[in-house]
Amino acid sequence: MISEKVQRIGASPTLKISAKAKAMKAEGIDVVDLSVGEPDFPTPENVKEAGVKAIRENFTKYTESDGILALRKAVAKRLKEDFGLEYGPKQIIVSAGAKSSLFHLVQALVDEGEEVIVPAPYWVTYPECVALAKGKPVIVPTREEDGFLLTPETLKASISPATKAVILNNPSNPTGGAYTRDQLLALAEVVKGEDLYVIADEIYASLVFDNFKFTSFAALGEDIKKKTIVINGVSKSYSMTGWRIGFAAGPAEVIDGMSKIQSHTTSNACSIAQKAALEAYDGPQYDVAKMVAEFQRRRNYCLMRLAAVPGLSCFKPQGAFYLFPNVRSFYDKEANGAKIRNSYGMAYYLLKEAKVAIVPGDAFGADDHIRLSYATSMANLEKSMDRIVEALGRLKTAKKVKRVALSNAVTRMKKAVPVEAVAEARMRDALVAEMESHLGYEGRYEWNARIGGAVVQLRTNVAHLNDFWVENFPPAPGEADVRPHGIVYAVDGIAGREPRGFYHEGTQTGVLVNTDHYGALRGLALGLAMDIGARSGGAGASGAVRGMSVDFDGSGLILVGPPGTKKTELFFELLADPRAKLHGNDIAFVEIAGGRAAADCVERKLYMPTAAVELDRRLAPLFDRSKCENVVVHKDDCSDLDCQRADDCRLDRGSPYCYKAAKEAHALLDPHWLGGPAAAVRRTNLKWLVLLRNDPTSPALVELGKDEALRTLEAGEAAGAKKTLAPGKAQPYYNPHLLGAGPEKLELQKAFFDRLLGSVRCVLFNSGAAGADRLKELVSAGR
Ligand code: PMP
Repeated sequence: MISEKVQRIGASPTLKISAKAKAMKAEGIDVVDLSVGEPDFPTPENVKEAGVKAIRENFTKYTESDGILALRKAVAKRLKEDFGLEYGPKQIIVSAGAKSSLFHLVQALVDEGEEVIVPAPYWVTYPECVALAKGKPVIVPTREEDGFLLTPETLKASISPATKAVILNNPSNPTGGAYTRDQLLALAEVVKGEDLYVIADEIYASLVFDNFKFTSFAALGEDIKKKTIVINGVSKSYSMTGWRIGFAAGPAEVIDGMSKIQSHTTSNACSIAQKAALEAYDGPQYDVAKMVAEFQRRRNYCLMRLAAVPGLSCFKPQGAFYLFPNVRSFYDKEANGAKIRNSYGMAYYLLKEAKVAIVPGDAFGADDHIRLSYATSMANLEKSMDRIVEALGRLKTAKKVKRVALSNAVTRMKKAVPVEAVAEARMRDALVAEMESHLGYEGRYEWNARIGGAVVQLRTNVAHLNDFWVENFPPAPGEADVRPHGIVYAVDGIAGREPRGFYHEGTQTGVLVNTDHYGALRGLALGLAMDIGARSGGAGASGAVRGMSVDFDGSGLILVGPPGTKKTELFFELLADPRAKLHGNDIAFVEIAGGRAAADCVERKLYMPTAAVELDRRLAPLFDRSKCENVVVHKDDCSDLDCQRADDCRLDRGSPYCYKAAKEAHALLDPHWLGGPAAAVRRTNLKWLVLLRNDPTSPALVELGKDEALRTLEAGEAAGAKKTLAPGKAQPYYNPHLLGAGPEKLELQKAFFDRLLGSVRCVLFNSGAAGADRLKELVSAGR
């Protein structure tokens, strides 16, 4: 498993889209790529020659880690001439691209938990770069009316004692917005009074239009300069993106810190590229001016074309080579039945319908926008503008606009936590005292549920857990009227405690610490209720069977088996038959009396993995109306390797969420929604226990004698089956809700199943050899 911090970040979306456009072109599709973040001009001839010369002269070895002195001097000279900045060579570090400088800088400045203010829309790399340093990116939205610029008021309000730095990207990628000297001075006033650094990413400084006068943040005064690190490089200004040369200039102490890191990461930037960059900075500068003039012409052309599109507005940028139009008014419109819901949807639509690759604004933290790069030929721009205008013109107001508002709780902990048995009453008392001390009365939820015959009380400080609990279990009489048989604490936010579950059998107390995952709470509560049930009545008179249960023409049937045995597939196939009624999808509480086994569904809802949409298409609109947990709304949380491999993601196509992207995603589905009240039962007369296996060779169906059935259940592995589970993963009685599997507990289970097998028939069914029809035949014939 890769580290959590890396799991949390996504790969650069701009690079991915450019790759997709390239792949389409390779297939012969005429795509215009407006997603690229690099000038389309060749690197100036004199610069290329300097690179060739470096090779000829064998300047192909390691250089000083921070960059050759001549280049750092040339950088200093350029900073002085262009921006009036004075830096010595020790205050400059040359890296493999500005991105590399930025990464080393953030690593050098930020400690775990420290905050970095990132105004949005932001360049995609900033938040990820901060997160990789274990810092906390604090995203601060700016307003289009303010030219997407940070105001002194917003900056001030965003600073906390944990703030380490603020990133100012001037001019901005993706908006092209640039700060005037006065605007920068106002920000500097705020910064002066604070203990923080300013990371001034000025990579687009030379690309400004309409005689805009660019000012470097570090040029605002000596005191400000001491807190500022300027990031710049040759990538954009000299059309040298592939050469990978960027730099940082700032206080010697910070540069020194970066230097230490760089000495252990890349060492020096490419020696040949350094010589070329030296020529770029030292040589004639007229190529820059030519490029700026051309960009300005293209910007004006695109702005003119976009201005003619009704419903679209576009901010006029002062720099860089991007446009960031607002396309919000097109959301909820559709063409050819495809509805656009967000910037991903718009990007997908334009790619498919207009054959123009652009970047969704969401990647920059601004979902109402898309980013177009005009760093491509005028001919390409004309073609793409024609196509965009045409495609947007085709979008019509959808007849029925249904904004999908998913009721989804994303939990911090997604998986069930280990539950350990607490043997001593003293331990239990200490745990309860600890939980009570953290619960207090404010924000406390308390609710009695009836689970099977037992009353189980939840005490929690997690609103989501209470919400799901109340929705899922039927109510029992209130606290004042009844003493619960069991109590479950679920307390989150206890400092210094690992997420963990505890359970004391003697007093039927369950404790969950620091988890907000309903699956964990539900499992513990069911386990407690099973225990309480098993103790009442005679030994073995009641118990629970974990599986998916159906009432087929009056006979109860329960499918039991480990993952990989197509349990869910069979369940849905059975349910498709009009003779079948839905009973439960996870656990049946069974009462045995007079030779009959009555199986009850004890939950009001089906806590169902939303990935089941793959098996039954009717589920998606039902989940839309259900309470959900951990449904994936952001690509970074997707764990579906198939989609990732096929590069086919519904979120990329503009879907607001994906039901199949994570195993942990569940919905609390009302069973009646699946076919009306007549198609579901709460109680069934259990007749068949179907143990599943899945292999290509075994017979489809073997009826098991009582002893063999018991042995199989106890082992948690279908006897004679090819192994479907990793060794050690087998669960006695296939029941993960069973709390503690001590000898006594297992004896009780045995007694229960022994009795159950006196009332039901047990078959070993090979889902690799037969389908639901075979089961239906069996049940019909055996009635
Ligand atoms: N900063 C910004 C705002 C950028 O847009 C980019 C390139 N897209 C960079 C830094 C990185 O530049 P380089 O290619 O020199 O790493």
